[in-house]
Amino acid sequence: MILRPYQRKNADEILACLERGVRGVLYVLPTAGGKTVVVVGGVIRTVVDHGWPTVFLVHRRELLQQSVRQLAAAGIDAAIVDPDHDPDPTALVHVASIDTLKARKARLGSWLRTIRLAVVDEAHHTVAPGWQALLEAMPQAQRLGVTATPFRGDGKPLGDLFETVVRGPSVMELTAAGFLCPAEVWAPFAPDLSDVKVSRGDFSAGDLDRVMNNDKITRLALNSYAARMPGEPAIAFCASIDHARRVSELFSTVGGWTSVSVDGNMDTADRDAAISGLAAGRIQVLTSCALISEGTDIPVVAGAIFLRPTKSCQLFMQQAGRVLRINPGKQRACIIDLADNVKNHGMPEADRTWSLQHGLIPLSHRTVRCPECHRRFAPAPCCPGCRRTFRGQDAAPVIRRLEQLADSMIRHLESDELERLAVSERDLERIARVKGYRSGWVYHARARLAARLAKQYEMRRYA
Ligand SMILES: [Zn+2]
Repeated sequence: MILRPYQRKNADEILACLERGVRGVLYVLPTAGGKTVVVVGGVIRTVVDHGWPTVFLVHRRELLQQSVRQLAAAGIDAAIVDPDHDPDPTALVHVASIDTLKARKARLGSWLRTIRLAVVDEAHHTVAPGWQALLEAMPQAQRLGVTATPFRGDGKPLGDLFETVVRGPSVMELTAAGFLCPAEVWAPFAPDLSDVKVSRGDFSAGDLDRVMNNDKITRLALNSYAARMPGEPAIAFCASIDHARRVSELFSTVGGWTSVSVDGNMDTADRDAAISGLAAGRIQVLTSCALISEGTDIPVVAGAIFLRPTKSCQLFMQQAGRVLRINPGKQRACIIDLADNVKNHGMPEADRTWSLQHGLIPLSHRTVRCPECHRRFAPAPCCPGCRRTFRGQDAAPVIRRLEQLADSMIRHLESDELERLAVSERDLERIARVKGYRSGWVYHARARLAARLAKQYEMRRYA
């Protein structure tokens, strides 16, 4: 397993935290940034060489085998712990589903007490009190959480389980370096969500189905697919299982594309066949309600069709993340957004603000929609789709996010987080004033800001 330079650097930073005895380290890297390589090839490989009993925790049983294969690729033999398999006393590394361990915590107590490192994949799911109890059953274990979205589904923080963050490069940085595909977004339609109820932080599924599950919207999706990425492998994210089936049906019968819908009621073999069909080019459009967001790794997929509006920034980023992976011959990721998700959450590469104590900080990530070609993009003087020029507010590429924060919030946020929001020397001076930093800080921060703005300018050339 060869690590890219940033992956090596991040693995070393994580190892340094573990060596210092940090109990909970959270590693944050965008989807498709190669977190497995860092965690398996960089971190687990090293701690295993030091003889640390390690458990790799996944939140769904379907991910057990995949994780064992990933460990094997780094030369690490891992045993599975599930309802049919007890821990293997000869193995140093185990892969376990969180549900199994929670259910069998008492029975596996003596083994759990030997664990030195507990890796928690998709750590934003560590919400239930059951996790806390399970981690307490491993008193010797240091925790390494891994996630692309370091806040819970409702935006709540992860500071109760993790105390230190190792932050990998952002989506924008990975794109500029050629490790992720740039995304182009087309928004041919804006749904009317005024009657859609919100429950537990997101739109109610039944209401969404009523608004989104109709032929008019599906035909718009079909026309956009035919216009923007005809025949390219794409995933349509739908509001319900029935919606996913109807979209697939219309894409097949009216559009003439090969389309299949997948859902949790199918048997695993059919589902796997559909996913591998998409990867192999036998299927052009896969439609799904909730199945294909996390853990499904199909680099060839070039397109996402958003048909499920969501208030969850986490769900949005995971769905968008599905298509950003690079693949030979793939020039860009194409997102057709009929759900206003990009309008509400910002471009996929926008840098989100969060902290372990506060979770996601809701700041606006303004975008502009071109009235001519319906391309949606971060404010710029010219539409990247049709070259129409914009003026005034629409054209202003600088978004003053720091101005959205009150002094009280600035006081609470980490300085590196604040620096990322700064776009001018005035912003830096405000940070210094509120946080009580010396003038030397502003001097150095100014140089960092100039470097960052230069990088963003470079990045805009991809748009
Ligand atoms: Zn345009």
